[in-house]
Amino acid sequence: MRVHTIETGRVQIKASQVIGRGHGLGRRLAPLFDAEWSDWLPVNAYAIEHRDGVILVDTGASAAAMRLPRWHPYLRFCVRFDIEPEQEVGPQLKALGVGSNDVKRVVMTHLHIDHDGGLDGFPTSEILASPGELKRASGIAGRMLGYLPQRWPKNFDPKPLVLDGGPYGPFARSKRLTADGAIVAVATPGHTPDHFSVIVEDGDTAVFIAGDASYSEATMLAGAIDGVSDDEGQARATLAAIRAFAEARPTVYLPAHDPDAAERLAEGRTPRPAPGARASSTAASQSSQPSAFAR
Ligand SMILES: [Zn+2]
Repeated sequence: MRVHTIETGRVQIKASQVIGRGHGLGRRLAPLFDAEWSDWLPVNAYAIEHRDGVILVDTGASAAAMRLPRWHPYLRFCVRFDIEPEQEVGPQLKALGVGSNDVKRVVMTHLHIDHDGGLDGFPTSEILASPGELKRASGIAGRMLGYLPQRWPKNFDPKPLVLDGGPYGPFARSKRLTADGAIVAVATPGHTPDHFSVIVEDGDTAVFIAGDASYSEATMLAGAIDGVSDDEGQARATLAAIRAFAEARPTVYLPAHDPDAAERLAEGRTPRPAPGARASSTAASQSSQPSAFAR
């Protein structure tokens, strides 16, 4: 199986969103008053080539993110995008020879605006989202939380992904996404309460597509809570579970906004390589090169 990084433009957020400052409500409001911006970070979606078809995890941002509602304090003061229409995930996949019909499933780790932007490029794909996340993101309440449900495609009606498949390693809840069990969604609550991640089983190595479970591998390893999570204890437990998973076996960790994620994937680099294991053995099966899509 191959996993591909699709970078859909870049985003800047506040430093106190990447690593939360303080606790409780103060931590969640800190980005509003923070003058310090992060570096420009990638907005990554990840495409998995599976024999049943391509599975896309998140859809990245859209060029419409260059114009955000001004009434919302977070959208006005705490986030800025840099993306052109041709950088959206649909056009990028097309350039790689993957049409929207080749994408069997689109799996949404959560529905924040830098993850749902490319949804309209996949009118015939099965879209999977957590029912809890869908409810949270919908309607006026969703808009108040900074989601943009008004920009979803008119026929947007994702299939509920319920993680009723029991525990998976250190994760309490999971669901197989393919019959062969090679692609599995696992509950990673924190950034949003129903956030999930997608694990791709590739021999000895696991590729862990993390959405925004953390903004980087470093903050995951450090157990640093972001400035977004409602429930600090829940977010901390999720980061601990990911660390336990990555300690148990070689894991290429791919958050959506980690500047090093694409390179780690291309090189098969894990935070703790197994003794004697050579990272290059995975590098051969992982590639972000455009020519790597098997047709
Ligand atoms: Zn994000």
